[in-house]
Order: sequence, then structure tokens, then C-alpha cells
Amino acid sequence: MKKPSRLKHLVPVALALAVLAVIAARAGGPLYVGGPPPFAPGVPFVWTINPLTYWTDLGYLGVQTNQQADALVADAFKVWQDVATANISFAKDASNNGKLGADVTADNIMAVLNSIEGCGALGSIAKDRSIIYDVDGTAVAALLGEENKTTVLGFASVACASSNGVDSNYYLRGYAVLNGIFLDGVNNATNPEVTVTGFKAVMIHEFGHLIGLDHSQINLNCLTSYCAPGSDDLEGVPTMFPVLINDAAMSTLATDDIAAISALYPESTFPTSTGRITGHVFFSDGQTPAQGFNVIARSTTSPLVTAVSSVSGFLYTVDVGNPVYPWWGSEYGSRDPALIGFYDMPGLPPGDYTVEVEAINNSGDHPFVDGSSVGPIGNYGFQFPLPSLLPTLPCTPEYLVSGATATCNRASATPLPVVAGSPVTGTDVILIGTPPRYDAWEDGP
Ligand SMILES: [Zn+2]
Repeated sequence: MKKPSRLKHLVPVALALAVLAVIAARAGGPLYVGGPPPFAPGVPFVWTINPLTYWTDLGYLGVQTNQQADALVADAFKVWQDVATANISFAKDASNNGKLGADVTADNIMAVLNSIEGCGALGSIAKDRSIIYDVDGTAVAALLGEENKTTVLGFASVACASSNGVDSNYYLRGYAVLNGIFLDGVNNATNPEVTVTGFKAVMIHEFGHLIGLDHSQINLNCLTSYCAPGSDDLEGVPTMFPVLINDAAMSTLATDDIAAISALYPESTFPTSTGRITGHVFFSDGQTPAQGFNVIARSTTSPLVTAVSSVSGFLYTVDVGNPVYPWWGSEYGSRDPALIGFYDMPGLPPGDYTVEVEAINNSGDHPFVDGSSVGPIGNYGFQFPLPSLLPTLPCTPEYLVSGATATCNRASATPLPVVAGSPVTGTDVILIGTPPRYDAWEDGP
């Protein structure tokens, strides 16, 4: 997670595999989705350990004592644990009193993270799920360069994938690094500070990645312009938004965060107590599925707050057949063509919803690419614009109207009744004004 203004976000280190280390695809909602065997295709990776245990560092986090930092960590994990429709819990591991083997500093952080990602012997310091306190930003600087010392609030990664090859893909290791320079009591142009509440938001966000969640984009206007504290716009911004834009608002989960964690770790009541909308996004020909666009379902009664998102094609592999990608393709994401352009918005409180499609943020100071990626495409350094052949288009977002086409006018959007336990399927959105086939980046036969 990064802080606004001149901040560069770290690329969370790619999911490491024992046999093949390549750039990993990420997906809206789940961070990683299984590819061809030995993985279960199209199945998101999750942890199968519950409670998921962790080990914390030995030193201070800024001016927070080790004990205070541990308490903040426990509080942040509890925010996810308290989601009523999700079945995942967290605890300090019983071994070694839940502590790492030594204080992690600039001198040893590289070795510690390498041992975790190497998927072999851990050495004497690292543990399977290591929560690392960088007391003053020097470890972040050692790892990422001095220029990131005061820009990266924290980062997290999962590592070492396994699978039963049928219906379960799962993580074996992970870590989070928390940058204490933002909690050192000094606040000036070269040493920015966030509140303890804001840092709790950072922890919740990074632990969201650690448990398998990707970033998400809702109420982008709060980044590109301004949203007043206490506004509905701000309240609807997910904690998994790539940028920390408000300490208070992002320290509590939004509807989208709750839906995302519940979809990965569903309580038995989740499918029956909530609604769901699924479908595909198509280009204007109504036949060519469109990958990499952000789809949002918004409640008609509280559209800015009760909103859930999905990235079209999030279960499909990012790079099959595209010559700019490695010839062996990504090992992540299903190869099932039916999943191209597919979106899935679970966890909807019952009510009426509109569905809209927009591009993922790809401009300004904080494009949602690389370490700030939303969905699988952004990991390759770009996001697709909404293509248009018409001078008056594209409008953004485009709203679903009955008959599966779209409108620029929110007031004309067709509300979909969503009831608990009864998914609304096949809600395809055919974009208006796009080239008839293929997107702006491709040529077709
Ligand atoms: Zn993040």
C-alpha cells in the first residue's frame, strides 16, 4: 500500500513456485488463480490452515513498542476474522512464542525474504508467515532503494503454492513488511507520518494480501479528485484500494472487502444470506469478450457505500497467445475460453442493483499497475482503456440496460433485483461504441 503524492508502490514479490519462478498473474478479488495442472484450473488460491498462525518481529515499529505493534497486528487480523460471512481466524503461532528467530533489519531482510520465497529450509530467523517490523524504514530502503523508504507503507506477499489438482489451490508461506518510518513521531516533507489509525488500515490492507486478496477499485473519484471525510464516497472505498486515501475510512472494511474475503473463505451461510450477480463483458459486437475492465454492482438505495466489484476475466489466464508474454504463458489462470470476460460479484446484501463497467485507473500519479495492480492485466504494467470509435464515447462508466447493452446515463440503468441465495446469472454487458472485435491492443484475423 502506498501513500498519496509522489509515492511509489512496491510490487509484492511474485508468488514463488518450487520449480518455476515467473511473473505471476493476479486477479480481481483473489490474488492468484490456478492455471493448468498441477493446479486446479480457475480455482483461487487460499490458505487451508485455520486458524492461520503467524509470527511477529522482535523490535519496535517506529515509536510503537514491540508489544504495541503486536497488539496492532492482532487488531488488524481481527478485523478480517470478525467478518460474519467469512470463516477464517488468526492467532500467533504457539511455537517460539509466536516470534521470529531474530530482529529483522536492513542487514538480514533480504536473506529472510529469500528463505521464505525459496520454499525450502527457512533458516533460523524466518517463519512460514512472518510479520516484519521495519523500525525506521531502513530495511525497506535496503530492499527497495532509498527512494522508497518514505513512500512504501508496507507490502506483503504469499509464497509457495501447492494444489490437490482438483478443487484446491493453496498457499504455504507468506509475509508482510510494515514500514515504521510512518510511525516515528516525525512528520515533515522528507519523513511523512500517518496516524496509528491510518497504520492500522495499512496492516489490514497488507494482511488482506497475505490472506489472498487483490486490490479493488470502487469510488475512484476519491483518488482522482476529492471526497470529504465522512462522505458516502469515502465510506465505500475498499480497504483493498491500492492507495491509502483516508486513515479513518480505510481502517474499516467496505462492502467490497467483506464480499471478497467471504468469497474466498465462505461461512456456510454466505451463499444463502447474500446475493450475487455474474455475467460477461463484451465488445460492441456482442461476441468478443472483453478482459480487464472493472465491473461494479451498486445498490440503488446506497450506491456509493453498498458496492461490490469484479474485474472481467479475472479467472482466465492473462497471457495465453499473446506474443509479448513468455512463450510458456502464465502458470496462473484458467484456459477455459468461457471465462474470458467473465465477472462475478458475490456477497451482495439483498436489494436492487445497477451494474456498471469502467476502465481500471491507468493515469495520473498512481496508475493501478504493477504493485498497485487491480486485476490480472495490471501486473504487466498497463491497463486497457475503454476503447471507442465514436467521438462522443467512451463514456465512463457504462451502465447495463436491459437487453444486455449499455448506456452512458446512470438514470437509465436497469436495476436488477437481487435476492439472497439466488444468483443473477448471465447479466452480460455489451459495451457501446467500441471497435466490433478485439481491443485497442490487438489485431484480429
Ligand atoms: Zn496493496
